[in-house]
Amino acid sequence: MRIVIIGAGLAGLLCGRTMSAAGHDVTLLDKGRSPGGRLATRRLGPARLDHGAQFFTVRSDNFAAYVQRWQHDGLVHEWCRGFTPSGDGFPRYAVAGGMNRLAKHLAEGLDVRCNTLAFAVRPGAGCWEVQLDDNSVLPADALVVTCPLPQSFSLLVSSGVELPVDLRQTEYDRTLSILVTLDRPGAVPAPGGLQNPNDVFSFIGDNVAKGASSHPALTFHAAAEWSESHWDDPRDDITAALLGHAAPWIGDASVLEVSPKRWRFATPRTIWPEACWFDDSGPAPLVLAGDAFAGPRVEGAALSGLAAAASLASGR
Ligand SMILES: Cc1cc2nc3c(=O)[nH]c(=O)nc-3n(C[C@H](O)[C@H](O)[C@H](O)COP(=O)(O)OP(=O)(O)OC[C@H]3O[C@@H](n4cnc5c(N)ncnc54)[C@H](O)[C@@H]3O)c2cc1C
Repeated sequence: MRIVIIGAGLAGLLCGRTMSAAGHDVTLLDKGRSPGGRLATRRLGPARLDHGAQFFTVRSDNFAAYVQRWQHDGLVHEWCRGFTPSGDGFPRYAVAGGMNRLAKHLAEGLDVRCNTLAFAVRPGAGCWEVQLDDNSVLPADALVVTCPLPQSFSLLVSSGVELPVDLRQTEYDRTLSILVTLDRPGAVPAPGGLQNPNDVFSFIGDNVAKGASSHPALTFHAAAEWSESHWDDPRDDITAALLGHAAPWIGDASVLEVSPKRWRFATPRTIWPEACWFDDSGPAPLVLAGDAFAGPRVEGAALSGLAAAASLASGR
């Protein structure tokens, strides 16, 4: 099959690798500059900072098998066992050099076309036709769409596929954040991560402590409520406000550079009861997948991508 996967985040990449290993002709499309989606790492001066997912946990045997392999390959390491002084005993994993390295690793050997926006999906003769932003059309004997759901739905408006109402109503929390580089280490206590330290922040991450950066650099993610209520503020006001709130964790260090980031579709608020959504009412199979299906986190995205591959293989 010629399989087109829209979205080269973790869900799309794991689906793509699985279908490619099974001998299919797989093409991944992503509007971003590099694969990874919310597995995002940014270079700022001499530092590297994770600005999407900060770490991941492992709850299923299926995902554990992948993580074990990535650990064996030296890509992934255990960062800590919780963000309170005594921890909670459950491993939190990070990626050496930043989370995006995992995406790049998974993209190796796959046909991943970045800077490529899928614009619309239409029914063709025995296949789906994916229209790209340069007006070219890619035929697909099976189509997998792994974008955050509101983006997937706008792509599918002309597809003729009837999407379940509950799925169409999925909403996402937003996240405002700042990336900060410092002239010396900041004041985030060991192990270098803080979860929900107050009403403003949902996470504060020390990129050196988790092995993303060799230069002092902190990531501050604003809590969902704070992000929602400041979303339309001018960018400079958001940056100044977050930087002010960040002061206790910057400590005595001097700020070298600050970069704000807005995640419109950070976290799905509701999760679909199945690990992906399969439909064969159109000219060819269509699967929707991503973290809105198997859990609003890295592991959920991975499991959904694998479920999408399994449902294409089994035809249901
Ligand atoms: C700020 C933040 C912090 C987080 N922290 C954590 C954490 O600490 N631990 C954890 O486990 N999870 C965390 N998450 C969640 C985790 O990052 C996601 O659950 C996971 O990465 C989602 O993967 P995905 O493949 O489902 O979607 P995505 O990674 O969003 O991939 C979808 C891809 O689709 C592409 N796309 C969209 N529309 C189009 C189009 N029309 N054409 C082409 N491409 C398109 C996008 O560019 C994107 O690359 C966090 C998320 C955010 C935003």
